[in-house]
Amino acid sequence: MILPGSTLGVLGGGQLGRMFCVAARTMGYQTIVLDPDPSSPAGRIADGHIKADYTDKAALDQLADQCDVITTEFENVPADSLQYLLDKKPVHPSPDVVKIAQNRIKEKNFAEAQGIAAAPFAAVYSEKDLQQASQVVGFPAILKSATLGYDGKGQFVVDNLQQAEDAYRSMAGVEAVLEKKMALKKEISVLLARNSRGEIQFYSPAENEHRNGILHQSIVPARVVDELKDQAIEKTIKLAEALNYVGVLAVEFFITDDGQLIFNEMAPRPHNSGHYTKDASVTSQFEQQVRVICELPPGDARLVSPVVMVNMLGDLWDPDWSVLLSEPGVKLHLYGKKDARPGRKMGHFNVLDKDVNNAIAVAERLFKRLVD
Ligand code: ADP
Ligand code: MG
Repeated sequence: MILPGSTLGVLGGGQLGRMFCVAARTMGYQTIVLDPDPSSPAGRIADGHIKADYTDKAALDQLADQCDVITTEFENVPADSLQYLLDKKPVHPSPDVVKIAQNRIKEKNFAEAQGIAAAPFAAVYSEKDLQQASQVVGFPAILKSATLGYDGKGQFVVDNLQQAEDAYRSMAGVEAVLEKKMALKKEISVLLARNSRGEIQFYSPAENEHRNGILHQSIVPARVVDELKDQAIEKTIKLAEALNYVGVLAVEFFITDDGQLIFNEMAPRPHNSGHYTKDASVTSQFEQQVRVICELPPGDARLVSPVVMVNMLGDLWDPDWSVLLSEPGVKLHLYGKKDARPGRKMGHFNVLDKDVNNAIAVAERLFKRLVD
């Protein structure tokens, strides 16, 4: 076990790294962040900030020398850098797992190999693959870059082969997947924490509403029949065990109009849809990340109160904070980002109420007032 007083390293300095650092400090650990951005949200509050590129060997050496264990807050960190660190210090989740989660083709193939269905898809390595891919998948479809996509970026809804070809050309020849555009009733996600002894704590699924490809709000408990919730939890545990996963894992699922549960993607880290755990669960997803990478038991993941988490993007800046701060049951979280660009995640608020429908109504009312 890596005990309090030790130093934890994080690759990436975004808001997920920031909330990880806060959780680590609360538990008596020190933190060091590696991120090239001098004003990164996590770098500014960590005990140490190595401002260098993720492939900078000297910087990776410094991180490994100063830390007892290393984790990541985003999946697009080069897997080779994680592998390099692993020769010196424990790294969770492992480079092999991150390599799968950072590539849509690999993650869908991995899920299907475990008997977990994804939407019909085909890999596209060059423009000439599109014709056959579209025969497998059909239209309408979504063309997604296989790597580096997030918040709906690098995705195109296409209705015919011509549109698919145009979209693929605009992606400058990257590896991609063409997948069937499903008719969705709901989207849910399951979060769990697992340590190297295989001890697991999982959270009740969150019901996620996206706007413009970006998460708008998460509702917990999800308004979904128990049978589908249980299936989603079972599948997430199955994936974690098959990956021999150590860390916090989030898996996104679709529920189709005809009631099927479909794997969408996984994130090898805490997830935006798990931000509600900071106020509504016994143990937050960030404390879980600290615990499991340090080989401590994962914490109690029970829900203490129904909750709605609402994202605040740069679009709605500069908000009137008193709207949120004067409302009972509401908790505000800000990431300390200086530039409020449209679509950029600046913070979130959690609305707690013993009745989830009240929480939904309050969240909607507050969000409207912020936007107005
Ligand atoms: P990201 O990495 O940007 O989160 P996702 O693959 O999760 O990418 O897609 C973002 C959102 O786009 C999803 O949450 C969902 O709302 C919508 N979406 C993605 N793929 C499909 C699909 N095959 N069918 C219908 N909607 C989809
Ligand atoms: Mg997603």
